[in-house]
This record gives sequence, structure tokens and C-alpha cells, in this order.
Amino acid sequence: MTSDSSPTIAIIGGGAAGFFTAVTAAESNPLAKIHLFEKGRRFLTKVKVSGGGRCNVTHACFDPADFSKRYPRGSRELKAAFHRWQARDTVQWFESRGMKMKAEDDGRMFPITDSSQTVIDTLTDAAKLSGVSLHPNTGINEFHPAPSGIGLTFENGETVLYDRVCLAAGSLKGSSLPNSLESLGHTIEPLVPSLFAVNCSDQRTDGLSGVSVPNAAVRISGSKRWHSGPLLITHRGLSGPAILRLSAWEAREAHSADYHFPLEVAWTGETNRERVLDTLRDWTTKSAKKMVKNACPYALPQRLWEKLLDAAGAAPSNPWSQVPKSQIQSIATEISGSTFSITGKTTNKEEFVTCGGVRRKEIDFRTMESRIVPRLHFAGECIDIDGITGGFNFQAAWTGGRIAGLAMANG
Ligand SMILES: Cc1cc2nc3c(=O)[nH]c(=O)nc-3n(C[C@H](O)[C@H](O)[C@H](O)COP(=O)(O)OP(=O)(O)OC[C@H]3O[C@@H](n4cnc5c(N)ncnc54)[C@H](O)[C@@H]3O)c2cc1C
Repeated sequence: MTSDSSPTIAIIGGGAAGFFTAVTAAESNPLAKIHLFEKGRRFLTKVKVSGGGRCNVTHACFDPADFSKRYPRGSRELKAAFHRWQARDTVQWFESRGMKMKAEDDGRMFPITDSSQTVIDTLTDAAKLSGVSLHPNTGINEFHPAPSGIGLTFENGETVLYDRVCLAAGSLKGSSLPNSLESLGHTIEPLVPSLFAVNCSDQRTDGLSGVSVPNAAVRISGSKRWHSGPLLITHRGLSGPAILRLSAWEAREAHSADYHFPLEVAWTGETNRERVLDTLRDWTTKSAKKMVKNACPYALPQRLWEKLLDAAGAAPSNPWSQVPKSQIQSIATEISGSTFSITGKTTNKEEFVTCGGVRRKEIDFRTMESRIVPRLHFAGECIDIDGITGGFNFQAAWTGGRIAGLAMANG
């Protein structure tokens, strides 16, 4: 531990948030001594596998209020934080270090190399250039606050005092750190998975693995909230952006139902059954002579349309003019809200995160400092913040790391 102008700073966790905190602090105060501790053999392992190996660094949305809407937990706090460091700043930060970025049509931003290794190299070079001391294979087990700093107990039993500490250890699931944090008065919101696909076995999707619709809406039956986006039928059930959004926004509800719940699917995004009925009634006149199975009023994949007709009990070879009213009603129900019995979840390999972590109210988001333990800061997934897929989770890590790094270096 040293004087205030050259503080010793410890950062726990060598992931996205830890690196951004460390580099920010080191560049902001070259006199500070910055130590980055990583319990694993390698740094930035999640960055490596992220985005299918391409790393979806952030999202091409440069309005803090709009950006913050993509976080089921933490939206309010991040809205303010994005005024300090937002996606545009992240892009400039990486580009100024030679890592050019590109946005895809859906807004996801990747390094132009399409390789997460470019992100790792950029962060690692920045850390080395700014004098951050990197300590792999160095896990931290406990915190010991003291009047002038925070003691950290390492896995080898040694305790060292630092002026300031940032916890950037990622998901706290399975970690011993929550015990230490709770003993200091912090609250850990329950840790449950977010961003998963759902399992179901159903005649309507049987044999349709790989079939997708571009704009579905899904909800847990009884919920007021629909979640929209492309939907993919998999060999285990349902996936795609609409399901991942539902899994994020309803992470707690799904967990308390032990991932067994009725799910409604509006295949065309139209959730209003009356409006679908109107369309079908018009259609029976317009396409009166056409065979039902060959004339779907919506742009649905043919095999899915036939399955939905089957589920509605409609004879596929009838002309539309001969479909009884009761069957029109059933077809409308299938299109606007097929109900599936969900019986479990499957990890989405592209991206998953933990919902829950250090309670947001216990953190001052202007500095990311604990309101309970002075000199202890937080950044990244260890906080009760998580976003939907699309680069939002990394952006939360960059923003938290930036704010924590500045506050620690100059605090
Ligand atoms: C497969 C996959 C793909 C993903 N793809 C994307 C994507 O493309 N875009 C996106 O925005 N998000 C993506 N995410 C989410 C994103 O990876 C996380 O939001 C992000 O990594 C969080 O950063 P972090 O630094 O907080 O945590 P982490 O990246 O998890 O880093 C925390 C580090 O702390 C270390 N650590 C833990 N405990 C200790 C301890 N006691 N002592 C020392 N070190 C410790 C861990 O070993 C780890 O290296 C993906 C997640 C997964 C699993």
C-alpha cells in the first residue's frame, strides 16, 4: 500500500470488466500500481469463446436511453452510466488502438477480423503498455476491509492490503466470494441462468428442426409481456432471439417454475386473435377455391403451416370456402397463440449469462463503489445486471470497468 497519488489497486478477475478497469486505471494514473488477479491459467477466456468465436463487442445503438432498454435487470442504473461511457466510446476506444469494428444488419458489432482473438490482443497489449501487472493462477478468497484499504486473502492463504479493490469476477454462481461479501453486509440477489433455449416435445414441431420464422412473439401463458423476434425450431424445442429474450426477461419466473411452464407462440408476431380471425375470414372469400394447405394467408414455412392445420383439426385438402367456422377459429388460435408445454431448458451456446449478483442499490454507479464497504468497487457480471443477446452484456462490462477504473485511479 502506498500514498494517495500512487495507490495500489487490485482487480479480481481477468475478464472483460477486469481488463477494462485495469487499463482505464493505469492510463488515468500512471503512478498507480495496478494488479490484475485471475484465478485461471488464462485471461479473457469468455471473450475468446464469445459470439461464436467472433466476440460481439457491443451494439450499434448510440442513445443511452434506448440502449438501456435491453437490460431486464439494471436498465435504470445503466442509463445514467451510459452517459459516462456508451457503445460509441467503446467503439472509439478499440478503433483508436487499431481494432476496426463493423456492425451487422441486426446491430451487433464485431471486430472486422471476425475473430475474438483481436479483442484479446487489443486488451492485452493495452494492459501491458500501461503497466498493469498480470497475475494468472491467482485466486482471491476473501475481503478484509480496514480503515485505509481492503485486505485480500489469496488462495494460498496470504493476505495483502490494497488501497482500492475492484471485484470483476464474473458470475458469482459457484464462487465462495458471495459468502465473504455477505459477511460484510452486501446482499447477493439469487443467481439464476439467463439466455437459454427451451425444451418441449410436441407434434407441431416434431420433425421441423431447423425451421424458423422471422418475426414471432412468445410469452409465458398468463403473462402480459410478449417477446418478439426470429424463432427457431430445434431438435429439443424452441430457440432463436425471441426465446432468448423471453429467457432473459422471464429468467426469475422460469426458474421458479423449474423451467416447466406453458408457452404461447404467435408465429407471425400477431398476438391479437381477433385480427387473425379477420384476416382468415377475408381469406376464405379471396382464396375460396384454393386448397387450404396450399394457400396460407401468412408467409409461414409450408411444413409448419401443415402442422398448424393438423393441430387445428382442419382438413388440408379442403378448399377455403368449405372450412367450417369452428375450424377457422382453431386455425386463428394456432397462428396467434399455439400453446406448448415447456419441460426444461438448454444452454444457448452462443451466449449465456447469470441473472443476479451484488444488489444494485448497494453500489454507487457514479464510481461503481460499494455503499457498504468503502474502497471496494464492482464491475461486470458479478453485479445484478444482465442484458439480452447482441453485445449488451459486454457493453455493461466495458461501462462498469471504465467508471470503476477512473474512480479508483483518482479516488
Ligand atoms: C459462450 C458465451 C458467449 C458469450 N458471447 C457474448 C457476446 O458475444 N457478447 C456479449 O455482450 N456477451 C457475451 N457473453 C456474455 C459475456 O461473456 C459476459 O457478460 C462477460 O464476459 C462478463 O464479463 P466479466 O469480466 O464480468 O466476467 P468474466 O468474463 O466471466 O470474467 C471474470 C473472470 O474472473 C475470474 N475469477 C472468478 N473468480 C475469481 C476469483 N475468486 N479470483 C480471481 N479471479 C476470479 C474468472 O476466472 C474470469 O476469468 C457470452 C457468454 C458466454 C458464456
